[in-house]
Amino acid sequence: MARSPEGFLFDANGALFPRDWLKRQGLDVLCEHGIGHFEGEAVFLLELRSAAEVPGCAWQGLRRFMLEGDFDTYKVLGYAAQIGTWAREHRFCGSCGQPMSQIQWERAMHCQRCDLRSYPRISPSMIVLVTRGDEVLLARSPRFVTGVYSTLAGFAEPGESAEDCLVREVREEVAVQVKNIQYVGSQCWPFPHSMMLGFHAEYAGGDIVMQPDEIEDAQWFNVHDLPPLPAGRSIARYLIDLYVARRLGLPEPVLPR
Ligand SMILES: [Zn+2]
Repeated sequence: MARSPEGFLFDANGALFPRDWLKRQGLDVLCEHGIGHFEGEAVFLLELRSAAEVPGCAWQGLRRFMLEGDFDTYKVLGYAAQIGTWAREHRFCGSCGQPMSQIQWERAMHCQRCDLRSYPRISPSMIVLVTRGDEVLLARSPRFVTGVYSTLAGFAEPGESAEDCLVREVREEVAVQVKNIQYVGSQCWPFPHSMMLGFHAEYAGGDIVMQPDEIEDAQWFNVHDLPPLPAGRSIARYLIDLYVARRLGLPEPVLPR
């Protein structure tokens, strides 16, 4: 597979190409990484400096693969995207500025001069559905697709536990207090390198006060009357669907993994 700042190269058959053929296309390769095996075949990523025209092919962002593509393929691409981003951003030592090189026996970049090692970064992010009986608290960020409401989410800061982060994010974004925090599940979120930890929490008090710039609307919605929701494969949607299913006695959804 090949990846540039424009996304992954794909054609009618998808994003996986014969490695030799891809290498003959005169692409501007920054580095190459082994990604593992997919359906019995070794997969490599060519991380490119820039996108180039390849006959019969186009460039496509990872999000479209997540929404529309085969999920197992998407997972390989999501992993490759994080490796590619990390390799691109760790060509030089963050401590002394020298060029770094790949270590062969583990996934790390190494600075020979000062011995610093850099590993692929994963940024934990808490995502939470706050509920109050038959109501769920959903909000809109200005970045969302028009009309869509979702759960609250935010990145952990140094020094915080997952629960500390969740309580702070909810307080900052909508100013309500929560209780009975329960972990539900997690999802890799390679945009560019998050790990979403999903929780359910019950409302404990306070009126909604929206955080300026971050939240353009936040409301309590009845489970029988929900607004447009996030894409079906996202953990945000899963948290909502799971609560609604339990509330209404319906079969529980499954989070794609
Ligand atoms: Zn160094």
